[in-house]
Amino acid sequence: MALTHWPTDYKRINQHFGEDKEYYFSNFGLPGHPGIDIVAPLNAPYYAIADGEVTWISDKIQNDETKPSANGWQILIDHGSNLFAKYCHAQQDIPVDVGQQVLGGQLIGRSGDTGKTTGPHLHLEFQIAGMGVPGYPNNQVDPWPHIEQVFNQFTEPKPPLITGWVFKTFTNIVGDFIVTTAQPRVRLGPGSNFEPHIGVLRKGAPLINLNLLQNGYTKIQASIFDFLSIDPSNIP
Ligand SMILES: [Zn+2]
Repeated sequence: MALTHWPTDYKRINQHFGEDKEYYFSNFGLPGHPGIDIVAPLNAPYYAIADGEVTWISDKIQNDETKPSANGWQILIDHGSNLFAKYCHAQQDIPVDVGQQVLGGQLIGRSGDTGKTTGPHLHLEFQIAGMGVPGYPNNQVDPWPHIEQVFNQFTEPKPPLITGWVFKTFTNIVGDFIVTTAQPRVRLGPGSNFEPHIGVLRKGAPLINLNLLQNGYTKIQASIFDFLSIDPSNIP
């Protein structure tokens, strides 16, 4: 399963898989941290890392507030190819349901600081049948080798940079960076009426987010090397 989206708006990891061995062994009998901790302040969105199906939500189903899970409110998604991802410490108000199909990049929850935490963050666990790391339950594996690819998508575009506007639906915004998820036209202004356009970007192009949103268009800077086609006479 190729992952397509980074799960929060923050490209920072606080703790990797297997770290903090003594704490996890004494508290949970585990060889180390069973997932990856990604920065997500309170209320920050959790995004599906790929297309999939929601297969389980706690504690919505268990409904046992007297014994809250160490992972708090969690969403388990079957992303195909035997990969299940568990998104933990969410708010109770979860916008998806068990059995629902989700798309990569879709909002599936928000950071809620629920469960056993020292502050709000996304604890993300990967379970891959037949590949579990010895000592960890539920076929848990290190998410990093799988998620590193989407992490690295968010690199800065190479200069020279072209400034313009793209339709936000064709992008995935991650903090100060954006990556195109389709082949958007880059326009001189925030709307399809701004013709002629500067050019068309390739899918997967990293952009700089200039944090201006109008009419569903977002202002960006893109590398001249990421254009599939470009009309130099329209460069501002
Ligand atoms: Zn964690």
